[in-house]
Amino acid sequence: MAEIQSMYAQMGIDSETWEYGEAILERLAERFRKIDEIAEYNQLKVIKAMQDCQVGEACMLGTTGYGYNDLGRDTLEAVYAKIFHTEDALVRPQITCGTHALALALMSNLRPGDELLSPVGKPYDTLEEVIGIRPSRGSLAEYGVSYRQVDLKEDGSFDYDSIVEAINPRTRLVTIQRSKGYQTRPTFSVKQIGELIAFVKKIKPDVICMVDNCYGEFVEPQEPSDVGADMVVGSLIKNPGGGMAPIGGYIAGRKQCVENAAFRLTSPGLGKEVGASLGILKDFYQGLFLAPTVTACALKSAVFAANLYENLGCAVVPNGSESRHDIIQAVTFGSPEAVIAFCQGIQAAAPVDSHVTPEPWDMPGYDAQVIMAAGAFVSGSSIELSADAPIKPPYAVYFQGGLTWPHGKFGILKSLQSLINRGLLDKNRLKL
Ligand SMILES: *Cc1c(COP(=O)(O)O)cnc(C)c1O
Repeated sequence: MAEIQSMYAQMGIDSETWEYGEAILERLAERFRKIDEIAEYNQLKVIKAMQDCQVGEACMLGTTGYGYNDLGRDTLEAVYAKIFHTEDALVRPQITCGTHALALALMSNLRPGDELLSPVGKPYDTLEEVIGIRPSRGSLAEYGVSYRQVDLKEDGSFDYDSIVEAINPRTRLVTIQRSKGYQTRPTFSVKQIGELIAFVKKIKPDVICMVDNCYGEFVEPQEPSDVGADMVVGSLIKNPGGGMAPIGGYIAGRKQCVENAAFRLTSPGLGKEVGASLGILKDFYQGLFLAPTVTACALKSAVFAANLYENLGCAVVPNGSESRHDIIQAVTFGSPEAVIAFCQGIQAAAPVDSHVTPEPWDMPGYDAQVIMAAGAFVSGSSIELSADAPIKPPYAVYFQGGLTWPHGKFGILKSLQSLINRGLLDKNRLKL
């Protein structure tokens, strides 16, 4: 369609860049079909859970004050529990972000003298202070909870021999991060996570297995809670919020684990009974309803970015053809200038704040400067098209999100154009 190319031209995309993108896309039809198929399955799963729980118009209303008998909140938690096939769930706007949800799950289920084990290497950056790997006020370490870590093997697989050695009588909780986060290791599939949990439970059946599910929700037909996880934890400004939730986090899992978290979030004795939902529930429900297709759009954007940049010689994780278990795409550029140009290109494609220029800054919780591109309706939302990069070697950008596929596509083309316009990439290289 001629109109499309002329529209791209008006929005700063050269014809060479556009044609290169089209050539890459031609190869991706089968990948996209599979992504749509998973979205279809997950869409039905979400609708079924909402129907089974009899979500009604009254559920969209909120409470104020203590929030006793909040029908919409309690029903939403039942819907989450159905989707994740867990006994219970805690889904609250009072959980401020993913880190908070994870800290809550950990701090409420560990006691002084217990040990936390990560059998999958270093956890997400912000958890370092929660755990006390980097000393911090109020960390688990300050409360007498010790931490042990088993790194992945060179090839990214689990080091089962060292995991056996690390598990001891004090090991109470095992934390497994599904997504790669700010690393270049592979993301684990639900199947792999299931194998790891089975292995751990064989050694110590009563250990609690928690999965940091951030960015993984609805990417596969199954969730980690379908393969033995006692708790799955995530953020509502990522996949399950569908771009609609303006705040929030969730913990779904065994009743005991979820109740522990509720007692810590509110107060011993009060637990899940309090916590007014205010006027936020309609967005939580609608976001959850949209989440499977929004996640599919984000996945298509990630697959497109992988193929587009892999063909230009960048190291990409996951690579252009391998299967996907989260929505993050890492692209290694090897220089701070290229990382910054990429992020500024993503920003320039945004519906909100396209006129501002992101710069690296000292973000709380991270040990290097970070640049973040996010022209989002919800501040910091990373299910919306966004990119971030710690300014440190190997100078990799982590790209994720896209509420719609056409926006994801445009953002990636803008990032490429930004590299070309700054002389960081020769446009003669834009060929298959
Ligand atoms: C985003 C993320 C977190 C932390 O979530 P915030 O909402 O940024 O606090 C934790 N773990 C992983 C894997 C994440 O992607």
